[in-house]
Order: sequence, then C-alpha cells, then structure tokens
Amino acid sequence: MKSMPYAEPWRIKMIEPLKTLSRDERMQKIENAEYNLFNLKSEDVFIDLLTDSGTGAMSDRQWSALMQGDESYAGSRSFLALKETVKNLLGFPFMLPTHQGRAAENVLLSALLKEDDYVPGNAHFDTTKGHIEFRKAHAIDCSIDEAGEVRAYHPFKGNIDCKKLEDFIVKVGVNKVPVVILTVTCNTGGGQPVSMQNIKDVSAVCKKYNIPLMFDSARFAENAYFIKQREDGYQDKTIKEIVKEMFNYADAMTMSSKKDGIVNIGGFIGLKDENLYRECTVFNIMFEGFITYGGMSGRDMAALAVGLDEATEFDYLHARISQIEYLGNKLKEAGIPLLEPFGGHAIYVDAKDFLPHIPPTQYPAQVLGVELYIESGVRAVEIGTVLADRDPVTREERVPKMELLRLAIPRRVYTNNHMDMIVWGLQQVWENRKSRTGLRIKYEAPIMRHFTATFEKI
Ligand SMILES: *Cc1c(COP(=O)(O)O)cnc(C)c1O
Repeated sequence: MKSMPYAEPWRIKMIEPLKTLSRDERMQKIENAEYNLFNLKSEDVFIDLLTDSGTGAMSDRQWSALMQGDESYAGSRSFLALKETVKNLLGFPFMLPTHQGRAAENVLLSALLKEDDYVPGNAHFDTTKGHIEFRKAHAIDCSIDEAGEVRAYHPFKGNIDCKKLEDFIVKVGVNKVPVVILTVTCNTGGGQPVSMQNIKDVSAVCKKYNIPLMFDSARFAENAYFIKQREDGYQDKTIKEIVKEMFNYADAMTMSSKKDGIVNIGGFIGLKDENLYRECTVFNIMFEGFITYGGMSGRDMAALAVGLDEATEFDYLHARISQIEYLGNKLKEAGIPLLEPFGGHAIYVDAKDFLPHIPPTQYPAQVLGVELYIESGVRAVEIGTVLADRDPVTREERVPKMELLRLAIPRRVYTNNHMDMIVWGLQQVWENRKSRTGLRIKYEAPIMRHFTATFEKI
C-alpha cells in the first residue's frame, strides 16, 4: 500500500505575480549582471532560491498580529507577547530582541569573548565565524568526519564529535574556551540536523568543564522535525515537546527569526543566566536599541511571536521538508549529483560531479548557477570556491572540499509545480553539460568577494 501523500496545511489567499522572460532575454540580463546572480534584479528572476532567509510567506494570523503591534518604546505589549512565547516554547526566561541573527551574535559574543579565545562547534555559520574572528578569537570545527563527505549517509550529519571537542578543550585549556556553539540545523554543512543524543553528549562535556553551551538556532524547528523522524524514542513526541527538550540543554541561544521565525526581518537572544543577561543588555542598548525592542518594530515582534508558534507545528514542517525531499528525489531520478542526505531548508547540487571538466578555480558551481538561470529563470547560490575566498595571508584561492550550488527553498512560497520547473531547468543544463565553460574573475573585493565579484566567460 502506498503511504498517504502530503499536502500543505494552508491555502493561498493572496498571490504575487511573477514575470517570465525569454531565454535570450535572460542571457542578456546575466551578461549585464557580469555573471554574478546577486547583481540580477529580483523581477528578472522567475523562481528565487538565493536564500530561505526573510523570504517566507506570513500567515493571516501573522498579518493580523502585525496590525495590532504596539510601537511603545518601552514595555510594549508586542515585546511581552514575544517574551512569553520564547519562555513557554523555548524555555528561556530572559530574552533580548535584535534586528537579525548576526546582531544577536554581536551582542552575546561581545559579552563572552576576548582576544585569543577558542570557540569550538559544528561548522560555524559565516556571520558567527566573522564575529569570532573579528574579536581575534578562533572558530574550531569539531564536526563528525562524515560532515565533509558529499554522499556519506548519516542521519545526523550536523553532530559534533565529542572526542574531538573534549580533546580540544583539554589541549588549549578550559580558560581559553568561554563558550561552545552548536548550530541546529547546521547550515554550513548543508542544513544537516543534530541528534538529541548528541545535544546531550555535548552538553555533558560542557558541564564537565563548566563551559556555557550556546545554540545558533536559526532552523531549530527543522532540527526538531528530523529528531522526530529519525531518532528512536521521539516518534510520538510533538515538535513543541522536542523543541523544549533540545533547549533544555542550552544555556544561551541566538536566533535569526528570518528562518524558522517565518518573518522577513528580526532576531533575538535567549538566556537562562541573569548575570549574563545583564551584561548583554548593555551591548544590546549600545548596538541594537532599548531592551524591549532591540531594532525591531512592535508589529514585527508581534508577527514573530505567532511565527514561532506556527513553525513548531508538525503539519507545517512535514509539508515543508517533504517539498524539499520531493525536489531532491526528482533531481536524483534525473541523475543529477546531490549532497545527501537532503537538508532541511535546501537541496545542494554537487557541481564537482556535474561539471568535472571545469577546475575549481574556474568556479564550476558559479557556472552551474549562471546556466540554470539562463535555462529556466531559477536563481540559486554558489557555495564553493568563490564563497571560500582567498587566504587572508597568502592571497591564494582557498579551494573548499565541496563545490556546491544551493537551492534554498523559501517557506510557504512555492508549489511543487515550481519544484518541477527547477528540475526541468537543471536537466537542460545537465544534457549539454560538456559544452559549458568556466568563468574568470574580472573584479573582486578584498573580503566577502562573492556578493560583488564580476566575471567573464573563458
Ligand atoms: C542566517 C543565519 C545566521 C545569521 O542571521 P541573519 O539574520 O542573516 O543575520 C546565523 N546562523 C545561521 C545558522 C544562519 O542560518
């Protein structure tokens, strides 16, 4: 017997029309954009998979909450609603709003880090790493070995190797490790989840050495969904129960609400320790705003409180992650090489296998992104040599282990017909893959070059 199909637990009340260009028009547009997909106007894109950050669709409940936002500078009702939600849903009694996730990192890491400290974790996100390195501290990747293998199967590829973690702490000394950061799900590793067992084990190591454990929580609800689906003992638990249990092991959290908050902008910090909260308030007021708004409007906090509740419902998560699986399975059937298992928020195409005749320094994942846009109007993003940048000292290209094109799926935005269009687009590129040629950089900024670099065809 076939298992029951899934369907979105919502219907569409408002639509946003999309423009279609011809293939020739797209060829002109991408040439004018000097082969950098960030330079395209969004109206020239048919399906936008550049990111799942801030691109989700809000519900009618969220839009109504928005209308009732309280814009008071201090003690806003919308702040109190968000604080209540964070306490009840995630278990943090102290909460500071920030304008987005990296701002939360800025505030919390300002309180925690000093020069020459070490911050172990599972492949830190770029902005987290940026905030660590900006303070002349070091981000240490203690991921399990499977994390760097494109097709090695592991149900929880986001896990930390606890032996690596403990050996590292012992090697540099506890005093040099002010915090351990666990990213759930691990974005850098391909949207891969962390198991509850691993959360417990990491927490035990942290407790043993009295080091606070922080969760980078952008996709915490997707992580809880994978625990329910893949880990023994969690099948009968609700997402909200699993979320509560996960955060039970964290001392602090930072959140990019643009992901599992299903809002367009926002972030926050959750804390359990009052002293650390007091220290963070000083930085929050300095960098973000007063402690009851921190860079967010009252209406945005009101919509976020509802978004957090909706993002932790099983039916929503099941439809979202099933759509990503749907896309992944169709691409796999078409023979297209992918990172596996599929992540929670995106499918990653393996550009090394797709375009083996193009060397990394001719940017195969960038080529793939450009060709996919030309064929179908789909905009994805390169996660490869362009993003990896040059070594800050030698200025040599840093060639990463994996050369990927990320197809990030916005929340509640596209239908499976759009997924079919993406598959069709990649098939067009696949069929003539041998004739695709590499790119050369014309201009690049000294750091973060991927946003603004320009390219020419070789
Ligand atoms: C997006 C993201 C951030 C940064 O959040 P912003 O809201 O973009 O500033 C931090 N960590 C992870 C894992 C993310 O995905």
